[in-house]
Amino acid sequence: MTKIEIPPDHPRRVSLETREAIIEGHESHIVATAGLLAHGRGEAFDYLIGERTTELAATAARAAVAALLSAKHPVISVNGNACSLVPEALVELSEICGAPLEINLFYYMKEREDAIKAALFAAGAKEVLGTKDRPSTIIPELSSNRRKVDPDGIGSADVILVPLEDGDRTEALKAIGKFVITIDLNPMSRTAVYSDITVVDNIVRVLPLMVELAREMKDFPKDTLHEIVKNFDNTENLDNSVRIIMDHLAASAIDISERRRKFETGVRDQ
Ligand code: ATP
Repeated sequence: MTKIEIPPDHPRRVSLETREAIIEGHESHIVATAGLLAHGRGEAFDYLIGERTTELAATAARAAVAALLSAKHPVISVNGNACSLVPEALVELSEICGAPLEINLFYYMKEREDAIKAALFAAGAKEVLGTKDRPSTIIPELSSNRRKVDPDGIGSADVILVPLEDGDRTEALKAIGKFVITIDLNPMSRTAVYSDITVVDNIVRVLPLMVELAREMKDFPKDTLHEIVKNFDNTENLDNSVRIIMDHLAASAIDISERRRKFETGVRDQ
C-alpha cells in the first residue's frame, strides 16, 4: 500500500503519522486487526488529555523507571502495537534497565510472533523471550493464550512493564504477586486501575522519555530508587489524570464558539 504523504503543517500530523505506523504494522502482521481498534481507543483518550506529556505522566514515568532499575528481575512485555510504534525505544529501555523483552500476544499467530521478533531484532535487540522455540510456564489465573509465559522472563520477574495491556492479564499478574507498571492513555481502564504504576500518556511520547530518564537515573543508589517508587501514589495519579481530562473538556467547550468564529473568518485551526 502507498504511504500517505502528510503535509508538515497538518494540525494532526503526529497523530496521523502514528496511525500510519500502526497501519504498516498491521500490513506486516505485527499488529492484530483488533490492535487497530485498541489504537483508536488510545487516540480518543490522547485527544482528551491534550496530546501532550503532562507533568503527572512525567512523574509516573520517573517512578516507573525507578521501579525497573531497582528490580531484581525486571521484564518488558511486548505486544504488536507497542512493537510497531516504538521498537527502538523498547530495545534501549530493555538494555539500560537490564529488563529482557518478552513477546506476549492476546491474538497469537506464529506469523505475528515471527514478525514482532524480526522487528525487535531489526531495532537492535540481542535476545527476545516468550517465543515458540523457548520453554514456557503457565500463569494459572489466566485462560487466554497469554497464560503461557517464559520462565526466564515474566515467569520469574518481580517487576513487569506491560504497556497497552488489557485488564484480565494485569489482574492475573497482580494475583501472582508481580509489581505491574503500565502505559495506558485511559486512566479509567481496568489495567490503569489495577497497576502499581500507570503512566497515562501515549507510548510514542513517553517511552523515549523513559529511555532518557533511565540513562539519567541508572547510577542512582538503590535506596534513592526505592524512595522514588515508595513516594508514588497511583490512586492520586489516576484521580488527577481524570481531572486533567475533565478540565480539558471544560476548556474545549468554552473554546468552541471562538474556533467557529475563527473558522468563519478563514483562520485555520491549530
Ligand atoms: P481494560 O481491559 O484494561 O479495561 P481495554 O479493554 O480498553 O482496557 P484494550 O483495548 O485491550 O483494553 O487495550 C488498549 C488500551 O491501550 C486502551 O486503554 C487504550 O487507551 C490504550 N492505548 C492504545 N494505544 C495507546 C498508545 N499509543 N499509548 C498508550 N495507550 C494506548
